[in-house]
Amino acid sequence: MAPEVDVREEVIGIDLGTTNSCVAVVRNGTAEIIANDQGHRTTPSFVAFSAADSERLIGEAAKKQAALNPRRTIFDAKRLIGKKFNDPEVQRDLSPEQISAMILGKMKETAESYLGQPVSGAVVTVPAYFNDRQRQATKDAGRIANLNVLRIINEPTAAAIAYGLNSLHRKSKHTKSKILVYDLGGGTFDVSVLEVDGQDFRVLATGGDAHLGGGDFDQRLMEYFIRLIKRKFCKEDISEDKKALGRLRKECETAKRDLSNQSQVRVEIESLFQGVDLSETLTRAKFNELNLDLFKKTLEVVEATLKDAKLGKSEIEEVVLVGGSTRIPKLREMLKEMFDGKEPCKGVNPDEAVAYGAAVFGSKLSDHVHAGVTLVDVTPLSLGIEDAYGLMKVIIPRNTPVPTKMSMEFSTNEDQQTSMSTKVFQGERPLTKDCIHLGKFVLSDITPAPRGVTIVEDTLEIDEDGILKVTSREKIPGAKSKSLTITSYKGNLTQNQIKRMIKEAKEMAEQDKIARACVDARIELESYIYDAKNAFLTGDGLEQVGDKRGKVEIICSMRAASGWLDANQGATREVYEKKLNELRGVWDPILITAKKI
Ligand code: AMP
Repeated sequence: MAPEVDVREEVIGIDLGTTNSCVAVVRNGTAEIIANDQGHRTTPSFVAFSAADSERLIGEAAKKQAALNPRRTIFDAKRLIGKKFNDPEVQRDLSPEQISAMILGKMKETAESYLGQPVSGAVVTVPAYFNDRQRQATKDAGRIANLNVLRIINEPTAAAIAYGLNSLHRKSKHTKSKILVYDLGGGTFDVSVLEVDGQDFRVLATGGDAHLGGGDFDQRLMEYFIRLIKRKFCKEDISEDKKALGRLRKECETAKRDLSNQSQVRVEIESLFQGVDLSETLTRAKFNELNLDLFKKTLEVVEATLKDAKLGKSEIEEVVLVGGSTRIPKLREMLKEMFDGKEPCKGVNPDEAVAYGAAVFGSKLSDHVHAGVTLVDVTPLSLGIEDAYGLMKVIIPRNTPVPTKMSMEFSTNEDQQTSMSTKVFQGERPLTKDCIHLGKFVLSDITPAPRGVTIVEDTLEIDEDGILKVTSREKIPGAKSKSLTITSYKGNLTQNQIKRMIKEAKEMAEQDKIARACVDARIELESYIYDAKNAFLTGDGLEQVGDKRGKVEIICSMRAASGWLDANQGATREVYEKKLNELRGVWDPILITAKKI
């Protein structure tokens, strides 16, 4: 069942980030970012445990003590979510889901104390490249945090929604808008190219660097000061002093942030190391120089992602900046230059845009419920499996409300068949060659038996996030199953493509009927030959044929019939029917005498 929203509650949007998380809500038609108990609008995605495990810190408090308690502080759970996690360093049986749940719980609490009422419904965002396991694990984290995760949406999509790009004015009716989301956070860099068609967002390409972000710029500053201290004050290396390094790192980050607003700052740390008081001027120009290669690297990723999306820069209608590091003026300047002077979307804070968009999305979900509209998504096209003859066997018909689960049985097509392939298609045409192929897999080790005896059940299940799971299983107790997961049952189709496919199905109905009748004629002929062969070769079928010559003739005619079928794969219905009549004329009298038909 789809999670239901309690009508009295607000739906919150949570950006569960690698470095920082953010929560937002829409009230009286306006999206608001909710500040935490420290008054900060983003909360570090940090969890820490005291030495005796008696105390658990989440957010600001956990980040503050991280330098002193590194072994018992966890800050990268998002990188591990949906992956196996057996790190002996974390000597507790906590999974990344549980850690993420603690952060989600903290965001829930933040929202509750602001709204003064319990909250359970939430829209949570994930990177566009997250696979199904990672999405599912994020949902599980929500469940552990007592949150009803109504939807998991992509971070770039949420950012685009924050800028109202879901209702982009299109230049022409036929072009869908293409947007590029440049997301540079504390430790990760993601680029996504999206195609927007009304309310539908399609990911055309993603790129990035999982280990590039603001932390690297801090590191460059640190290295600069370490060299400077060594040269200017002492011979000894500060790099060995963890505590001094922690203080230096903190000051470097502050200097970096300040340099986004001013052209120079003073970096001052009293008694930093061996009696040295650090007091230095740092200019924006120096900061840019120290990081220029990293800035350039991000632009190369943008180029590569555009190439993957097969788009030129000029085709990008909007550039959206996400992540705290996109506040850096030099980066903005380089990006603007790259897009021939196009100004990126402005107005929403880059580190808040994702949560903002998630809250807008959440409020739409809850509006529908408030208005008594059931927010049901339906399958835009039929989903099915290809049979042995290339026919589309529809399992979930078009316009079925999701979530849904439906099954169909298939029997083997050959004697002693030991595997069965499952090819998943989407579309309204009777032959799979005219439908869209979504995926395939093979179920092996099925019980060998005569054709038609072994039964395999194929189940198609779509959950409320649009994830389609196809499972094949032989219908005997204890049989193994095989599954395939398809991220979107819509197959990334836009509204227009769907409309076009439905129109095509109508236009081609007459032709499709002819094609279908042809396949049916072939199936009838093939079945007749198969049954006749069985009847002749088992029991006393051939006994009815008096002489030896007659028997040889029948055996030859059976061989010839099989050969004819192989050689005439693409014949017309009339040809198949003619052949069937011809065979019937010869074989039926014998089979009737043998009481085989
Ligand atoms: P996020 O993961 O999106 O919260 O981004 C956090 C990163 O953005 C951290 O590395 C911050 O140091 C960086 N950041 C935040 N504000 C600024 C700013 N004004 N200028 C430069 N970097 C910033």
